[in-house]
Amino acid sequence: MKKGFEKLADFLGERPLILMACALVCAVLGAVLLGNQVLLNRTVQDRLAPAEAETVPSIRWYEEETTSPVPTTQTPIQSIETQPAAAEYVVNTNSKKIHKADCRYAESLKAENRAEVDASQLPQLLSEGYSYCSVCCG
Ligand SMILES: [Zn+2]
Repeated sequence: MKKGFEKLADFLGERPLILMACALVCAVLGAVLLGNQVLLNRTVQDRLAPAEAETVPSIRWYEEETTSPVPTTQTPIQSIETQPAAAEYVVNTNSKKIHKADCRYAESLKAENRAEVDASQLPQLLSEGYSYCSVCCG
């Protein structure tokens, strides 16, 4: 009576197709398992890898706001006041003295005797008897 192992060997030896079928099944199973492992690794890598497609769009409004030209509302500095030029001379209508505007006597003139004139009026005043101040015009 043969042992079980020898009986199996004889059984397989007599039926080589079964052996080949088992080998094929094992090969297929191995291939399927290997394929599943590869797919699993790829899935994990895809999840871990940063998604390149999801690029955050740049915020455009910020750039547009900064690039918008700021209107410069600088008004040109105009002459602050268009006052007539200060009188060059001040005359004492009482004493008929002609003073320069910055003469200390001109500053002390009474308002009732004070008149402001410019240089173009001096000949007329001289002809009327006015004379230059000896302090400021001497
Ligand atoms: Zn004077």
